[in-house]
Amino acid sequence: MRALDLILAKRDGAALDDEAIEFFVAGLCAGEIPDYQATALLMAVHFRGLDLDECVALTRAIVRSGRVLDFADLGPVVDKHSTGGVGDTVSLIAAPLAAAAGVIVPMISGRALGHTGGTLDKLAAIPGLRVDLDPARFRRAVATAGLAIVEAGPELAPGDRVLYRLRDASGTVPDRSLITASILGKKLCVTPRGLAMDVKVGGGTFLRERAAAEALAERMGAVARRFGLAVRFVLSAMDEPLSPAIGNAIEVEHAIRVLRGEAGGALRDLSLAIAGEMIALAGLAGDAEAGRLRAEEMLRGGHGVERFAHFVAAQGGDATIVEHLERLPRAAARRSVRAARSGSVTALEARVLGEGAARLGCGRGTIESTVDPAAGMLLLVGCGDEVRAGDELATLFAASEAALDEASSLVGAAIRIGDAPPPPRAASPILAAFSG
Ligand code: URA
Repeated sequence: MRALDLILAKRDGAALDDEAIEFFVAGLCAGEIPDYQATALLMAVHFRGLDLDECVALTRAIVRSGRVLDFADLGPVVDKHSTGGVGDTVSLIAAPLAAAAGVIVPMISGRALGHTGGTLDKLAAIPGLRVDLDPARFRRAVATAGLAIVEAGPELAPGDRVLYRLRDASGTVPDRSLITASILGKKLCVTPRGLAMDVKVGGGTFLRERAAAEALAERMGAVARRFGLAVRFVLSAMDEPLSPAIGNAIEVEHAIRVLRGEAGGALRDLSLAIAGEMIALAGLAGDAEAGRLRAEEMLRGGHGVERFAHFVAAQGGDATIVEHLERLPRAAARRSVRAARSGSVTALEARVLGEGAARLGCGRGTIESTVDPAAGMLLLVGCGDEVRAGDELATLFAASEAALDEASSLVGAAIRIGDAPPPPRAASPILAAFSG
């Protein structure tokens, strides 16, 4: 078998069999398929798609590229994942809340992808915290804190790690089959009994239309069923960022503020809903609403923030950040983005803000780029707010003036100001919830 034959077959619209897909993923992991051939195949998949059997085969190949771990002796194992958003720190809030309620959460997470943020990049902002745990340390961390968040690595879903980086750098992220295999390939490595899946819908997502998000849920549900995994889908709006904080350290800080009960809004609502789904999937509540109420109790009682501190410490991080937010990295340079005119804020375009955050240093333009933990932005206005010309709309943080220059015009353009206030919007970001 040759990688070139797979590229030609997919380019011409043929389906690849299990053996071909296994060959591709194994060859990538072994460094035997060069990046240019891998990205050519990804681009062919992007245009031609994968059918259900191909998607199952890719998921299985990603699982088989590493080890499969079993945590069931520690308690009911349930995971969560999202298709990727902006200002979306749900994992750092929902996972500790679910763990505090008794769910075991061994999470293999991702890095920033395209214009969206990545949980691992956020965690890398916590001094000392390691996400590159080997299976033995991963297990110890889960046993200690009830949750751990690690990266796909040489032993855990290495196939996804390689594909993820190539997709990010080759414009091949938004394909429902690649997303499905990427997510389920990682998740199945920890043999969860359930997965709460946050599928983002709107301009700030990889799948902008609701129909595309539903098609992803359908595909993911179909693949998950083949592996006997129960999935609950929560469709959530992502036209504007989920929280005012966008970046890495700044999102960790905001997540801690939510867990400490000092911040709320859409991020809190969605985090509670996802934690509720996780608790219900674990069999620790009768349904998602009962789970949500339990998660809220955990939040109010301070158990979520306590669990967050245990989790940080178990992964070698400085848990004192929970009380001392100033110990998180701070950027050397900052700049205010100001309103060019007076009027009402009519939109905060999540995609453009995510691109702005990437220019500040929060994302990767190429595989070799490094992410700046201290870069990010804080939005100071929300949709519908009245502003006057010259008012500060957002504060940007970066390592250099050049990065601020690049990002500030994007951020200025993303915060739309019009004459009239926008039509009223739903208070909750949650559009629907259903089983896969
Ligand atoms: N999250 C992932 O892990 N993979 C994707 O492809 C998209 C979001």
